Amino acid sequence: MPATAAIDRTVRRRGLMLVLSSPSGAGKSTISRNLLESDPSFELSISITTRARRASEIDGRHYHFRSRREFESMRDADELLEWAEVHGNFYATPRAPVEKALAEGRDMLFDIDWQGAEQLREKMRADIVSIFILPPTMRELKGRLRRRAEDTEEVIAARLRNALAEIRHWRDYDYVVVNDDLDAAFAQVEAVVTAERLRRDRRPGLFDFVQGLLDEKLD
Ligand code: ADP
Ligand code: 5GP
Repeated sequence: MPATAAIDRTVRRRGLMLVLSSPSGAGKSTISRNLLESDPSFELSISITTRARRASEIDGRHYHFRSRREFESMRDADELLEWAEVHGNFYATPRAPVEKALAEGRDMLFDIDWQGAEQLREKMRADIVSIFILPPTMRELKGRLRRRAEDTEEVIAARLRNALAEIRHWRDYDYVVVNDDLDAAFAQVEAVVTAERLRRDRRPGLFDFVQGLLDEKLD
């Protein structure tokens, strides 16, 4: 391991709460998946949803699929860190895993919409880094929703209408990535993560590290 990587590992830091939002179909699930595969220190926040499970999805891995009644009882018991209605269904972030990750200094990845991002910023401003993913064109967005072939034409039309409302919130985000070429977009997301991990205020362990430098005896 290069010396700098070893030093980075020994300097204790706060966990990074990385929020990815985009209009449906712009590629945030794909980018999230790549990030989780390439960077095992990230843990995905698995949301609750009341929408129907897609054929490719696994309960407990992609989402916790719950009834409307179950969602409401979790909400009323204050078990949700944020929640929102998106495309006519409810989506929410369970509170407990996030609080645990924060307490343990682990990194967490959120694939949530602008309403969820806004609520998390209000609650954990110092810990949140947010990236908005844009499609290169609306035509391409429509093409991707169709090629994903997991939703009916009616659902795709509703998602496209909703895309305009989602895109209008792009300015609330710290970073914006246009997902034209997937590899290039992913490299940009990785660059954000690398830079944000180096932020001084996210690395309380630097105090000890620097003190060690100052105290080091040279002969
Ligand atoms: P989202 O999570 O934002 O709804 P997905 O990650 O499911 O979007 O991507 C929608 C579809 O577009 C998927 O079929 C995915 O494989 C494809 N896709 C993602 N990024 C690109 C890209 N840069 N170029 C072409 N297709 C892409
Ligand atoms: P999908 O149905 O395509 O999986 O997701 C639809 C939208 O809901 C996406 O914009 C996704 O980011 C958002 N979403 C997923 N989980 C959550 C969540 O826990 N909270 C909020 N606010 N939005 C979510």
